[in-house]
Amino acid sequence: MDAAASDPRRALPALHRLLAMPECEILVHVRGRDPVADAMRKELAALRKAGESFDARQFFAALEARLGAAEGVRRVLNATGVVLHTNLGRAPLAGPAIAAMTEVARGYCSLEMDLESGRRGDRFGGATALLRELTGCETALVVNNGAAAVLLALSAVASGGEAIVSRGELVEIGGGFRIPEVVAQGGARLVEVGTTNRTRLPDYEHAIGPDARVILRVHPSNYRILGFTEAPEPARLAALARERGLVSVEDLGSGALLDLARVGLPGERGLRQAVADGFDLVAASGDKLLGGPQAGLLLGREDAIARCARHPLMRALRPDKATLAALEATLRLHRDPELALREVPALRMMAEGAESLSRRAQTLLTLLPEAARAEAVAGDSLVGGGALPLARLPTTLVALHPENMTAEELAARLRRSRPPLVARLERGRLLLDPRTLAEGEIGDAARAVAEALA
Ligand SMILES: *Cc1c(COP(=O)(O)O)cnc(C)c1O
Repeated sequence: MDAAASDPRRALPALHRLLAMPECEILVHVRGRDPVADAMRKELAALRKAGESFDARQFFAALEARLGAAEGVRRVLNATGVVLHTNLGRAPLAGPAIAAMTEVARGYCSLEMDLESGRRGDRFGGATALLRELTGCETALVVNNGAAAVLLALSAVASGGEAIVSRGELVEIGGGFRIPEVVAQGGARLVEVGTTNRTRLPDYEHAIGPDARVILRVHPSNYRILGFTEAPEPARLAALARERGLVSVEDLGSGALLDLARVGLPGERGLRQAVADGFDLVAASGDKLLGGPQAGLLLGREDAIARCARHPLMRALRPDKATLAALEATLRLHRDPELALREVPALRMMAEGAESLSRRAQTLLTLLPEAARAEAVAGDSLVGGGALPLARLPTTLVALHPENMTAEELAARLRRSRPPLVARLERGRLLLDPRTLAEGEIGDAARAVAEALA
């Protein structure tokens, strides 16, 4: 037999023949002819590249997956063990937050109406009252995300002047958010003080000139300087700004309201602490350690917040009704720390104990097919979202060692399952962490693995 005749590529059907197949009729009807044809071309190219032959059932399954992947944002199963996974949407919302969001999404709501007087109301009235109660701040604002909160703060109080920042805090948070660039975008000139590892209060004092407007403190987020380090007490920094007529701004990042010692993660600076230390403006995210929707919180003193509220950027950065409803509901849960730990999924996941994780890993193991050659191994989960990079949350992982494919291949197949399963790849091993799988998702994860190996 000549080589060309046995070449599987020869057996791949032409596009027009595929489109005419009965399997294709509904697909074309639902998805439209062009997207289907486009996905077919890609799938054919993938088969050609892999030198694989045509199998109609497999082909149409792969096509469905391809078209599904092009659908945009979809639910996935997170088996990575990274609780606040930015690429997977960060914090899953609490039941009451989902209910509040759904309720206002369905119809109209009192977004900017005071129902007592029937007059125009304050969009942030509800969130502000809760933040005041929970943090002791004078007042607050909400914007679309933490980055927006920092940009608005600097634009409102530092523009045209200088912002003083320690060289140890000139960080990049990720996604292109770099402190020097944000300061410039806010219309301010950056004045760097101290060194990468050590900055003292006199470094700030000596840098205050006639154009100084702001002392900015930045949480190093996903980055740590360890060893021979020094930084002034945050409260002393805020006091210095006050004495010299400057505005103190803290970019806190993660925005914890709960004492994280409760979930075995002591030492993280929270919102209440930043407010108590006297910062005029404190910026934080809504979807990191608060466990709420994507939002940016800006807390602080009346005069500083009023300047932010008046700034033209405020209109461009304001959040919608669904975000505010979910944020308010999440904040309400934080009134009772026990309740927050139970009901806010990100906090509940971080707090899950070793025994419970081991038990859930065992359940997953018993549901997996023989071919997965799975075993339980000790490991760590991560907080994620740029928060607490050094924190280790001990967990039990399920490691898969399939015989007939590599870990990468299996991971790719799992990402194409319905719903997609995202696992952790580590040194050629595929790992599933039960911490970020909800109770009902363990079975879904096992099913996805069984199908991917079949
Ligand atoms: C995460 C983070 C931000 C950005 O917040 P987003 O809500 O992601 O926009 C800004 N500053 C710090 C210190 C952060 O950790």
